[in-house]
Amino acid sequence: MRESCGVFGIYAPNEDVARLTFFALFALQHRGQESAGIATTDGKRLQVYADMGLVSQVFSEDSLSHLSGDIAIGHTRYSTRGSSRLTNAQPIVVGSGPDSLAIAHNGNIINAEHLYEELSDQGYTFRTSTDTEVIANLILSAPDKDWIDRIRYAMHRLQGAYSLTIMTDHTLFGVRDPLGVRPLCLGTINGGYAIASESCALDHIGANFMREIEPGEIVTITENGVDSYREESKRKGICIFEYIYFARPDSVINGRLLYPARLAMGAGLAEEHRVEADLVMGVPDSATAAGIGYSRQSNIPLCEGLLKNRYVGRTFIEPDQRIRDLGVKLKFNPLPHMLDGKRMVVVDDSIVRGTTTPKVVELLRRAGVKEVHMRICAPPIRYPCFFGVDMATRWELIAAQKTIPEIRDFIGADSLGYLSIDGLIKAVALPKDIFCLACFTGDYPIPVQLEMDKLALETKAAEHRGHLGIKQR
Ligand code: SF4
Repeated sequence: MRESCGVFGIYAPNEDVARLTFFALFALQHRGQESAGIATTDGKRLQVYADMGLVSQVFSEDSLSHLSGDIAIGHTRYSTRGSSRLTNAQPIVVGSGPDSLAIAHNGNIINAEHLYEELSDQGYTFRTSTDTEVIANLILSAPDKDWIDRIRYAMHRLQGAYSLTIMTDHTLFGVRDPLGVRPLCLGTINGGYAIASESCALDHIGANFMREIEPGEIVTITENGVDSYREESKRKGICIFEYIYFARPDSVINGRLLYPARLAMGAGLAEEHRVEADLVMGVPDSATAAGIGYSRQSNIPLCEGLLKNRYVGRTFIEPDQRIRDLGVKLKFNPLPHMLDGKRMVVVDDSIVRGTTTPKVVELLRRAGVKEVHMRICAPPIRYPCFFGVDMATRWELIAAQKTIPEIRDFIGADSLGYLSIDGLIKAVALPKDIFCLACFTGDYPIPVQLEMDKLALETKAAEHRGHLGIKQR
């Protein structure tokens, strides 16, 4: 499961804004590894540099030195809409002269196709296949000329998830959709301001966290300081997966540091699914804290059973099929001396398609583990996500197709326990009604009927192919 993107913005005269953005994107690399980009403005023109690859691969001293100005925005991308190619890398610049803007987007617009057709009919042209360019052109198409009114106009038309940083010649904007699906926060830095998907990016550049940008809020930053405008937000729908997996454990979302929330998820699993075992481990890195939580709560000793190769990222070197078949072996190496003959509790963040977990179990068994008891922080995922998480179609979600005992057998574990929704909410320690829990419950915070209908058709077609013995792509 992959999340869609990381966004950043900075307004800081007297600072090297491009370089600070580079380091902030470094801290947001976990949110997207396909492409990275930075746009800056010196008050007269917008400049952008973006390329495929990791932040460290995309930028050099030379490329950063050409990005001058007082304002910058940046982006790390994993594509959920629009294919993975250079033209889709962000930030995207649209418009011309003083009527232009640069935009970076995290999320997914549900009614993008409809808006695309409408804007095309009005004569707007598209250089990319992203919903981000739809947002940008929608802002430009607004009847008003004031940027705030234009962004408000777009917010009234957009459905879905969007945390945005936007830059015009003289202004930096931070925008969060009325549900607040994706995080966005504001900080100060040396007399200036910064906006980031996660607070860890502010920490890394020496900025001070001020507050989160609220669902439905537009923040503007100019030479006069910060202003805020609010759109009505009837229901919040913060993605619970930010707490389970997406965001870094050193980030704060909704006033809650993620690390203790993940410790509490592990403790909750130990309460709900206790088992006799010799050792506990969390699958690194996303379930490391939850593994510690399980160990503390159960008094079963913690061990590091799998070592992660932290430098396996996206590279331009395409692995051939034989290398691809190595699967998790490229990522994890077990420690047989620690594991041989042991009964292990293995804590992981989630099971989506069920393709990775059996390989982890097999790796542990080959290292001599006698019993594997899988414990999962996320409740069973039975419904797809329409808000920018590349999960799977319903057809591919293992918990939509199999019972829990069937999944246990499929992954080859001796036992399997999922944290309950109530246990998850207790661990996060925030009110249940502020969250999107749709991938567990099917209760989407906004109507997704059209998308659901499309998926139902796809699922039927996939089932049909299955009956005919045709393999899914
Ligand atoms: S459906 Fe699941 S993954 Fe998608 S936004 Fe809601 S909680 Fe997050």
